[in-house]
Amino acid sequence: MKPQEITQLATDAVVSLDAGEAVRAEVHGSRAHMLARLTALGLPVPPGVALSFDCVRQLSEGGPMPELPTTAAPGRLLCLRPSPMERAWGGPTATLNIGITRENLPALEEAIGVFDARSLHGRLISTFALMVHGVDPEGFEAIAHKTLGSGPREAEAMRAATDEMLRYYADETDEDFPDSVSAQLEGVARAMARDWDRASARILRQAKGGPAEGGLGLVIQELALGLAPGVSGAGHIQTVDARTGAPACDGIFLPRKQRAVTSPGSRRTGVLLASGRRAGGGEGGEQPALEEMCPEGLDALRGYAERAAEGLGDAVQLYFTIENGEVHVVDAVPAKRNARASVRIAVDLANRGAITREQALLRIEPNNLIEHLHPQIDPSAARDVWGGGLAASPGAATGYMVFTSEAAMQAAAQGEDTILVRMETGPEDVRGMHAAKGVLTIRGGMTSHAAVIARGLGLPAVVGASDLRLDLENRRLVTTDSRVLHEGALITIDGTRGEILAGAPKMVAPDLGGALAELLDWADAARDLDVRANADTPADSRVARDFSCDGLGLCRTEHMFFDPARLTVMREMILADTPEERRAALDLLLPMQRADFEEIFAIMRGTPVTIRLLDPPLHEFLPHEEEEMADIAAAMGIPAAQVTARARELAEVNPMLGKRGVRLGVTMPEIYETQARAIFEAAIAVNRDSRDPVVPEVMIPLVSAYREVELVKQRIDAVAIAVQEEQGATLDYSLGVMVETPRAALRAGDLAGVSAFLSFGTNDLTQMTYGLSRDDAGRFMRDYVNVGAFPEDPFHSLDIEGVGELLLIAARRGRARNPDLKLGLCGEHGGDPSSVRFCRLAGFDYVSCSPFRVPIARLAAAQATILVGNVSGDETSA
Ligand code: PEP
Ligand code: MG
Repeated sequence: MKPQEITQLATDAVVSLDAGEAVRAEVHGSRAHMLARLTALGLPVPPGVALSFDCVRQLSEGGPMPELPTTAAPGRLLCLRPSPMERAWGGPTATLNIGITRENLPALEEAIGVFDARSLHGRLISTFALMVHGVDPEGFEAIAHKTLGSGPREAEAMRAATDEMLRYYADETDEDFPDSVSAQLEGVARAMARDWDRASARILRQAKGGPAEGGLGLVIQELALGLAPGVSGAGHIQTVDARTGAPACDGIFLPRKQRAVTSPGSRRTGVLLASGRRAGGGEGGEQPALEEMCPEGLDALRGYAERAAEGLGDAVQLYFTIENGEVHVVDAVPAKRNARASVRIAVDLANRGAITREQALLRIEPNNLIEHLHPQIDPSAARDVWGGGLAASPGAATGYMVFTSEAAMQAAAQGEDTILVRMETGPEDVRGMHAAKGVLTIRGGMTSHAAVIARGLGLPAVVGASDLRLDLENRRLVTTDSRVLHEGALITIDGTRGEILAGAPKMVAPDLGGALAELLDWADAARDLDVRANADTPADSRVARDFSCDGLGLCRTEHMFFDPARLTVMREMILADTPEERRAALDLLLPMQRADFEEIFAIMRGTPVTIRLLDPPLHEFLPHEEEEMADIAAAMGIPAAQVTARARELAEVNPMLGKRGVRLGVTMPEIYETQARAIFEAAIAVNRDSRDPVVPEVMIPLVSAYREVELVKQRIDAVAIAVQEEQGATLDYSLGVMVETPRAALRAGDLAGVSAFLSFGTNDLTQMTYGLSRDDAGRFMRDYVNVGAFPEDPFHSLDIEGVGELLLIAARRGRARNPDLKLGLCGEHGGDPSSVRFCRLAGFDYVSCSPFRVPIARLAAAQATILVGNVSGDETSA
C-alpha cells in the first residue's frame, strides 16, 4: 500500500493516514487521528487509510463499498481496526492478516515459514467466519488443535488443517472462503459496521458513557507481521514510570506475536524491554530482554516515545511491532499513570516546552492532589473491607480501635496509634481526635463535627457509617453481616474512599515536594483568587502557612476553650448569674485567648487573619454527666443543683437555631467585648516588633439582621479605641459578617453598609436553605444521591442552583451598596474545586478551606482563573 495509491483513492470518506490534519477525531475516530498524528511526527506507522463515520454507517446500511486500496506493498497483508470517536466506547476487535489468498500464500510461506503462514491463514478463516457469518470458532479450533507444535511435520499438519478449515467454512456458510483481498476486506468492514449498530453494542456503548449514535470509523493499514525469522514480535513501551512519572522504560515485548494487547483475563508471557527494569505486564525476566535481543530497536522505540510525547504534548504508551529488527509503530494511547505520576509528567512536559504551564495546570484534577497530601493505601495492597461510610476526610490511617477520646489520649501518651470510633463527635472529642490517627463515626454528614474537625487536622475520617452497629456495652463494632470487631482490634480507615478495613495494609507516604511544589508555584502565579485557610489553633495555622495559604479566612474561637485548663473557667463564665460574675470569669479567659491570638498572628505575619467571635450555643460547653456537674459545682463553691438548673435553663429544643452566634453577642455583650480585646491586644503586641503587620478581621457569626451587626459593631469599635489608647498604638482592623442565614444573604445590601467584608458560611447556609440538618444528613445522603433525589451531597459540593443563587444575590446587593466590600467563602465548600470555580466566576476575593485542602484550592483557583479569564463578577451575577 503506497501512499500515492491511497491519495489517488482518497475521497471525503476515505483519507490517507499521511493526510495530516485532514484526519479528524470527530470524523474518522480517535485511533485514525492518533495514527495520522504519529505519521506526521515521522514515526514509522504502516501506511493506511481512514474511513469516516458516515462511510461506515452507509456500509452498515448496505450502501456501496468505497473505492479502497486493496493492494498492499509486495508481501504485505492488511489489517482492519475500529476507530470510534472515543476509545473508551470500545468497538469490534481488530482483524489482522486480511489478504491471504491462494495466489500469495506460497510467498508468505516462503517469507515466514509454512507453519506460521498457515496458522495466520487459519486464524483469518475462523475470524472471518465468525464476524461475517457468526460461525462458532470452536469448530475451527478443534481442527487447529490437531497440529500443536511447529516442527516440519507440524507444518504439513497445519497445511492440511487450513485446507480442512476451508472445507469446514464452505460447509458452514454454503459458500467458498473469499479468495480476494477486496472481498475479504469488504466482508470484514461490513461486519464491523453492522456489529457497531447492534442493539447490544449500543447499550454497551451507553454504559461506557458514549452516545448510542456515536460514530465508528475504520482504519485499514498494512500489517507489520511480527513473525519474520529475525527479531520479531509485538509489544508496548512507555518512557515514564506509571507510579511516579519519572523517566523510565516500562513495557513488554512478546516475541513472535502479532499483538501486545490481550483480552481481559488472558495471560500472555513476554520479556522485559530493558534488563533490570520492571515489566509493564505479563511475565518476563528469564528470557533475554529486548535490549539484549535488539538494542537498536529499543533505542529507536525510546526515541519514538519521546518524540510522540513532545509532539502530542503528553506521555504515551506506544504499541509496536518488530519485524526482522525493524520497528513499526501501530498505535499510541496516553501513558498509564496514577494521580501522582500525572503531576510529574505534566510538569516535566511543561519544562521541556512540550506544553505550556497553563496546559500543565489544567491537566491535573485538583482533587487528585489528595494522593500527594496524605498517606494512602498502596493500590497494590489487598483490601479486607468490612464497612463503609462517607469519605469525610482523605487519607488512610491504621490503628487500634478505641471508643473514647480518653482512651485515644492515653494510647497516644504510650506511643500507640489509634482509630477513634464514636457514634458522633462533639467539641469534647477534639483532643481525642488530636491524639488519634483517624476517626470513624456511625452518624454524621460531610459537615458534621467529626468531618469538619478531621479535615482541619488532616486526619483521615469516615463518617456516617450507619451500616455498622457500635455496641458500647460489649465494647465492639458489628457489621450488617455479623462480623464482630472488639475494641483494641487493628483496623485501617480509608477516608479517601470511605472504607473501613481490617488489619494494616501497606501504605504509600505523602509527597509534597518536587513536581507538586513546582506546579503549585505556577498555580499561584496564574490565579487571581486568594486561598485562605480555616485554622483554629497555632498548630493548624502552621500547617496552613506551610501549605502557602494567603491568610486565615476562619479562626473558630470556640475550640480554644476546650482545653481542660480553660474549660472550667469557661463553664464558670457560662454558669455566672450576673454580668459582673460573667465578666470576672471572662477576665480570666482574656490572657489565655490573647496568648493564642499572639501565637497565631505571629505565624500568619503579613497576611489577613479572620477571627470569628464565639458561635456555638453555650450549653455545648457544659458537662452532661451528673458526676461532672458535681465537680464543677465543687470547683465554683455552689450547690450541684444550681449547676443542673442552669444547664437545664440553657438547654434548647433546636440549639442550632437557638441562642448562638451574634445572638450571644447581642444578649451577653461582654463575651464579644472580651474576645475583641484579646484580638486587638494581641495584634498590637505582635505588630510592635514586626514590619509585616497583621490586620485582624473580626467576624460576627450567624447574623440575620442589620441591627444585630450595628449593636455589636458599636461595642467592638469602642473596645478598639480603648485598647489603642491604653497601648499607645494604632491598629488597622476590619469588621465583617458571616453570611450563614438566607436572610443575611437577601439583606446583604444593608449588611454591606456596616461591614468591610462578607464571608459566606456555606455549611450553615446550606443547612438553612435546604432546611436540612448538617449533622443528620449523612444518615440518608448516600441513598438520596443514589436515587438521584440530589445530584450531589450539597454539604460537599456547593448547590449552585439554590445556595449559589443566594450567594450571587448577596454579592450583587452587597457590592452595589459598598463597592469595596470584600467577599469570601469559608464553609467546607472552599476546598471543593467546582465551588472554587463558582466563587471565581461570582467575583469573590477569596475562598477559605481546611489547611490540607489549601493546595487543592490553589490549583482549582488557578484553573478557574485560566478558564474564566476576564469575565467579571458583575457580568456573571447580573
Ligand atoms: C459555616 O457555617 O459554613 C461555617 C464555616 O461555620 P461552622 O462550620 O463553624 O458553623
Ligand atoms: Mg456556621
